[in-house]
Amino acid sequence: MLTQIINGRILTPQGWLKDGSVLICDGKILEVTNSDLAVIGATVIDARGMTIVPGFVSMHAHGGGGHDYTEATEEAFRTATNAHLKHGATGIFPTLSSTSFERIYQAVDVCEHLMKEKDSPILGLHIEGPYLNLKMAGTQYDGFLKTPDENEYIPLLERTSCIRRWDISPELPGAHDFAKYTRSKGIMTAVTHTEAEYDEIKAAFAVGFSHAAHFYNAMPGFHKRREYKYEGTVESVYLTDGMTVEVIADGIHLPATILKLVYKLKGVENTCLVTDALAYA
Ligand SMILES: [Zn+2]
Repeated sequence: MLTQIINGRILTPQGWLKDGSVLICDGKILEVTNSDLAVIGATVIDARGMTIVPGFVSMHAHGGGGHDYTEATEEAFRTATNAHLKHGATGIFPTLSSTSFERIYQAVDVCEHLMKEKDSPILGLHIEGPYLNLKMAGTQYDGFLKTPDENEYIPLLERTSCIRRWDISPELPGAHDFAKYTRSKGIMTAVTHTEAEYDEIKAAFAVGFSHAAHFYNAMPGFHKRREYKYEGTVESVYLTDGMTVEVIADGIHLPATILKLVYKLKGVENTCLVTDALAYA
């Protein structure tokens, strides 16, 4: 079935488009055009001046609607996911905070089960930790934090293919082997909760860390040690062409000036917006 949405403000990578239309066929966007002439055979929807954006793919969210995905129950997964679907997300990669591997296995079972449902909005699992730098872990649960252990992550990733993204601190011993392994499995690996400076970020990118989680948060910028100055993780990520970033663009985690800087230096193609939402979202 062909559907045409007209008379709205359409968000495109190049900016806002007025007097255009969006063509949808069988649930997928076929085309965004700058013409609002009726397409033969299409059912027309008049957006009456409202905003038209594609369905959001939520790639970093820990929970919502009072539940956290790390609870690893079907109820938690469904409630949190539905909370995000109400606000424009059409697909989600539920995020697990640092927890035990026992709990990760439980969450994998729930995730795999829900992903089998028809038109499931759950597209895969995202894990943040538990391989995190203790000093930079912030609100992450420090009782679970450790260095990467291949006796844990290899059996897990051999068993399931539902984990699509995994974030760790790249400066930990064993982190490079971890990233080479996750890359070989097609899993996106991000730097997070880190103190890495330029050489470490450059080396991390070379072995498979391709993304920076909640850019600017839980990572240092330019700083001083004694009388010398050092680039932080932030500048190092800017300098690493091809490394993508995500920002929590709520005006609190980052001020508008910094969002403009990210836009200017990384650009639309290398930046995504995330919520990093917790249970109370
Ligand atoms: Zn997070």
